[in-house]
Amino acid sequence: MTDWFELERNYYMPTFKRIPITLVKGQGCRVWDENGKEYLDFVSGIAVNSLGHCHPEVVKTIAEQAGTLIHTSNLYYTTPQLKLAQILVENSCLDKVFICNSGTEATEGAVKLARRYGHIHLKGAYEVITGTGSFHGRTLAMVSASGQIKFQEPYIPIPSGFVNVEYNNIEALKAATTSKTCAVMMEPIQGESGVHVPDSDYLKKVRQWCDEKGILLILDEIQTGVGRMGSLFAYQQYETEPDIMTLAKGLAGGFPIGAILCKNRASVFAAGEHGSTFGGNPLACATGYTVFKTIVENNIPEQVKVNGSYLTEKLNGLKQKYNSVSEVRGRGLLQAIEFNNKNANAVTEGCLKRGLLVNKIGDNIIRLMPPLIIGKEEIDTAIAILDQAISDTRVD
Ligand SMILES: *Cc1c(COP(=O)(O)O)cnc(C)c1O
Repeated sequence: MTDWFELERNYYMPTFKRIPITLVKGQGCRVWDENGKEYLDFVSGIAVNSLGHCHPEVVKTIAEQAGTLIHTSNLYYTTPQLKLAQILVENSCLDKVFICNSGTEATEGAVKLARRYGHIHLKGAYEVITGTGSFHGRTLAMVSASGQIKFQEPYIPIPSGFVNVEYNNIEALKAATTSKTCAVMMEPIQGESGVHVPDSDYLKKVRQWCDEKGILLILDEIQTGVGRMGSLFAYQQYETEPDIMTLAKGLAGGFPIGAILCKNRASVFAAGEHGSTFGGNPLACATGYTVFKTIVENNIPEQVKVNGSYLTEKLNGLKQKYNSVSEVRGRGLLQAIEFNNKNANAVTEGCLKRGLLVNKIGDNIIRLMPPLIIGKEEIDTAIAILDQAISDTRVD
């Protein structure tokens, strides 16, 4: 058998610290490695496989569209792109759409849009305020936007024009706002840094402040959007409409895609000011359309809400049982367990051994983000495995 680990060491840039399994197949909420071992997938490609693996409608759409028209460039009109734009607008508070290829590209584009707005309406204001612990992507500008030193330090000097302020602290945000500020960019819940949930009125206060100052609010819903929170978009749970919203991860169920959505008043790109060769191509957009339509038509967000509450309840059961579990947090199907020791690694390994994929963040956090179609039975299976894995590592 080919030694894939060896091939990786020899030929791939060592940017990832990988879990030592080689996945070759997926179906529904499960994946299989090359030895045929089955895993229940509570990572779903980092909140990407929203309809699970190889959902029949997604597979059918990709096959049909691939056999019809894959790519044309944006020099021409194509139907899947416009159908996707229409369904996104009809189901959100935003008016216009731009499709790109990834999350980073969406947030980067959103910042460019906010800067154009600043040039046109705010006397050239260009600074964007973001939160500490935030994650907005990996381009140079987006590591600068992300409020995490570890992503910035290796690349100093990083682009200017971003101010990181303490997340969930409205006074810090107010103090950092100047005549140079054109926008605030926030995740409704911070996913990548460990599922940090702000106070329930924080986003509303941020919205009010942006209105008071006439600046834009960008909500980065790349992880929280498209049903994961138990509503189609997270902003709906916070009575906070953004001026600009970014989507990616779960939008096309695993096919690479990103989207920038905005209100009409923030739709200030003129022809030629932004673009993409691949962005919005028929294959990606047909897939996004099928995934989004399936999520809307089957009211999957409601299902996520119910099953998300069930997951919270079960995780709280583990917290009651083990002193080592210090906190359970999150909403819908984006949740995390925090340990008061450094056992996240050992628990993740224990889960892997027993056939459950979970996502470790740092030494003490485990993030859970199963496909949106996960059921109670699968949640019970995952909880039983987590229970055993925590039990194995406990010292209390
Ligand atoms: C994942 C993520 C991104 C970056 O998306 P990529 O597709 O990896 O470029 C940006 N913002 C948030 C909130 C994310 O979760």
